[in-house]
Amino acid sequence: MKQIIYFLLAFLPFCGVFSQENSSNKDMNDSVAIVYFIKDITPENVLKLYEKTGVDLKGKLGVKIHFGEDGNRNFLNPILTKPLMEKTGATFVETNVLYVGKRRFTPSHIALAKEHGFTFAPIDILDSEGEIDYSTLGMNLKHFQRVKTGSHFPNYDAYIIYSHFKGHGSAGFGGAIKNLAMGFASPGGKMAQHNSEVPVIANRDKCNGCGNCIKNCPAGALSLVDDKIVIDEEKCIGCAKCIAECPRRVIKPDNTRIETNVFLERLVEYAYVFTQKKPMVFINVLANISSSCDCSARAPLPFTQDIGILASKDIVAIEQASHDLVAKGHNCDDAFLKESGVSGLGQLEYAQKLKMGTRKYKLVEIK
Ligand code: SF4
Ligand code: SF4
Repeated sequence: MKQIIYFLLAFLPFCGVFSQENSSNKDMNDSVAIVYFIKDITPENVLKLYEKTGVDLKGKLGVKIHFGEDGNRNFLNPILTKPLMEKTGATFVETNVLYVGKRRFTPSHIALAKEHGFTFAPIDILDSEGEIDYSTLGMNLKHFQRVKTGSHFPNYDAYIIYSHFKGHGSAGFGGAIKNLAMGFASPGGKMAQHNSEVPVIANRDKCNGCGNCIKNCPAGALSLVDDKIVIDEEKCIGCAKCIAECPRRVIKPDNTRIETNVFLERLVEYAYVFTQKKPMVFINVLANISSSCDCSARAPLPFTQDIGILASKDIVAIEQASHDLVAKGHNCDDAFLKESGVSGLGQLEYAQKLKMGTRKYKLVEIK
């Protein structure tokens, strides 16, 4: 019932200070969702935008966040969430990753989060005591009959999805959809989403044999032959870690091997199921925007200036608005396609098709 109320509220008419409509969606109905926007990225403004959405999330709240990979410099400053965490009494929630590194296991994951400054609220690694799965029966999904998450996922009454909007090697961009899809998936769920996405050695001559990708491959699928990298396709689980870890951009997603949008559709289906289970509201922070995600220890420097904070009850609208603001700031139609060769727009097309929200939005700038 709560989900229905939030969905209806997202489409109420309103008076905006500033508005912008995305015109790429001619086949959608006339619904327009509100996305609140503020330019100054401050802790007080994160809370202000959350309150502006008008949601009244009750009970035990989780804030889905990314603590940043060890060595990553682009993850969001934890202080930004302090007033929000204090006001809502929420818990930071995350899941363990597939990758080799501190975020793979709960004790080292929590220790890294604290090292990165997430010290002022409780932390719950949702799969620290195992995983559960949800059936997708009756949801008419293409890829999954079940989705897997941490066993603590049902322990919360509602979630605030707090996302760093930036690039991602396989998804084009990572925002709220990616944060939900991979971020709530247990390692088994992450593997299911990545499966069969074997990357390619696109620039073999540029490989200097540094071995960084080999150290970070969770499947032992990489090795050097004549000082150049090779992938054992039988072992590869398609996690894309090597794409992020290669400083010379030798390894890239193979967009010819599988239908380009399959990975994006898998992400969306995972996100869709989680949105059906709990009430949620979405906050995207557009800062430190590089072509790589916060899972990368070697994420490149940002390619554009910081833009601001967005908040909405509509996950598709907030992602479209975030995408458009980054494109505008980068003087192009698709900044992530330009920077990393992958467009993430398939996420939004499919999410809209599943009726998760609308790509039509009004951007309401708060002064
Ligand atoms: S080769 Fe790359 S994509 Fe495949 S499992 Fe290893 S790190 Fe992941
Ligand atoms: S990280 Fe890149 S440069 Fe280093 S061995 Fe792997 S593919 Fe080659």
